Amino acid sequence: MIVAGVDVGSTATKAVLVDDNGKVVARALSDTGANVVRAAEKAFRKALAEAGLEEWDVGYTVGTGYGRYKVPFGNAQITEISCHAKGAIALFPGTRTILDIGGQDTKAIRINERGEVQDFCMNDKCAAGTGRFLSAAADVMEMSLDDIGPASLRAAKILKITNVCTVFVEAEIMNQLARGASVEEILAGVHASIAGRSIGLMRRVGLEDEITFTGGVSRNSGMVASLESRLERRLNVHPDAQFNGAIGAALFALERATHGHDGDTAGSAASAAGAGPAAGAAPAAGGAA
Ligand code: ADP
Repeated sequence: MIVAGVDVGSTATKAVLVDDNGKVVARALSDTGANVVRAAEKAFRKALAEAGLEEWDVGYTVGTGYGRYKVPFGNAQITEISCHAKGAIALFPGTRTILDIGGQDTKAIRINERGEVQDFCMNDKCAAGTGRFLSAAADVMEMSLDDIGPASLRAAKILKITNVCTVFVEAEIMNQLARGASVEEILAGVHASIAGRSIGLMRRVGLEDEITFTGGVSRNSGMVASLESRLERRLNVHPDAQFNGAIGAALFALERATHGHDGDTAGSAASAAGAGPAAGAAPAAGGAA
């Protein structure tokens, strides 16, 4: 049997298909844009085309992410916190802390050895420390997202970036460029600033090894290096890290399709997460999960 997970993120929509062994057989990405329904359908159809399958070949679909209730073909919706936990423990069974940096929010999630959420916190009110902050820096420097990470690694020193606001950081970068700072040094500072905020978020939930880094920003080698050097430890980064939430959703779909709702741990995981102390401490936590 084939099942699907569709993660409708604020910036990117991800769809994966998994077989009955839980193996990913197809994956697809599309920009979310203004039309959430269209984005979900587009990603789903792209994944079907990649696998050479039709819609009716898919036995069960779980939607997750901020637009999950708009996934029209979804059989069920599960919070992205639960789906990230499910995906991360499947990709790296030793995972205890998950850092997910997406387009417009950053999440830190602590899980136990069974993949159950123990605590989480989110930064989603403000774009500081998210992919949007990096995109703003890339735009000012007229560079692509693929190039900023490697460029930051070539810096001789890390320039301190004081602004955390996406709007003001653009002016700060322009200022630094005018003063003769190198693009590499500025980018190293931007990455260090996001790494610092992300580590703060992880400390709120209790940072435990192993740490698995997910979300679109985990594709950025400069971000991985900046986090690893500050934390003085290696992070788990899977080639499918941006699809982690969709993979978790698909694995929930597989459980439901094979065992019914008994196999669903989403409810308990979500309530455990919502009850955690750090959930309340975050700028915008719990409710968005
Ligand atoms: P969401 O689920 O919040 O919509 P994702 O986790 O899919 O977001 O991440 C999307 C973000 O990932 C983009 O906004 C972008 O900042 C970042 N991103 C995507 N590709 C790359 C890349 N190659 N290098 C660096 N960042 C990337």
